[in-house]
Amino acid sequence: MGILADVREVADLVRKVGDMDLYRKMIDLQSEVIELADKNSQLTQTVNELTAKLALTETMKFHDHFYWRDVDPEPYCPRCFDVDRKAVHVIRPRAGSLPWKCPQCKFEVRLNAVPSGPKFAITDADPLGRGPID
Ligand SMILES: [Zn+2]
Repeated sequence: MGILADVREVADLVRKVGDMDLYRKMIDLQSEVIELADKNSQLTQTVNELTAKLALTETMKFHDHFYWRDVDPEPYCPRCFDVDRKAVHVIRPRAGSLPWKCPQCKFEVRLNAVPSGPKFAITDADPLGRGPID
């Protein structure tokens, strides 16, 4: 049984006793418990969102105009990641002279060559212990 059901059950028992002052206190307590449960739910959601953003940040590396993840050969938009902490793939141009574009924020960059992709150095600072991708 959860805390809300427990509080509701105690409130019912207090009501049956017939002490109205105690019952009013119990109703106030019930409202506070509901408020705390809602706040706890919001905080849990925030923690989950921040944990996901932190995990994403730890896997993104800036290299050769874009962000890259070593699990993905396609580059990510630098603007979307730097400003919004969102991982959005840029669209490869069909021809070399066309810009690479972000479908989300419309960031564009014209390159003379295809970006070289991630070549991460192995460092002790890498929390995931990842190595270079070839
Ligand atoms: Zn973007």
